[in-house]
Amino acid sequence: MADLMVQIDGETYPLADCFWVRANSAGCAVGSVHPVFGDDVIATPQQAQREFSPTKRQRASDDKHGMQHLLLTRQQWDEQAKPCFLGRCNHRLTVG
Ligand SMILES: [Zn+2]
Repeated sequence: MADLMVQIDGETYPLADCFWVRANSAGCAVGSVHPVFGDDVIATPQQAQREFSPTKRQRASDDKHGMQHLLLTRQQWDEQAKPCFLGRCNHRLTVG
């Protein structure tokens, strides 16, 4: 399972080198989870969503608010998600 490969933007990466990011409708990262822990693997956005929203009701709320679950490479995570967690991204400006 540790050798599972994924394609992001046409490139192939080991899933273990990527990160799932939970982002709001503006694309601002609000959560992050590693796809591989022990024998368990998070391979789809639906599985990633369950990590943050275990109940059906929570997932329905996510969908209503346009929450997204995206698989990012380590580099993409540094570029796109890290500034959000540090409060230095531009998403908040556009959200208002
Ligand atoms: Zn952001």
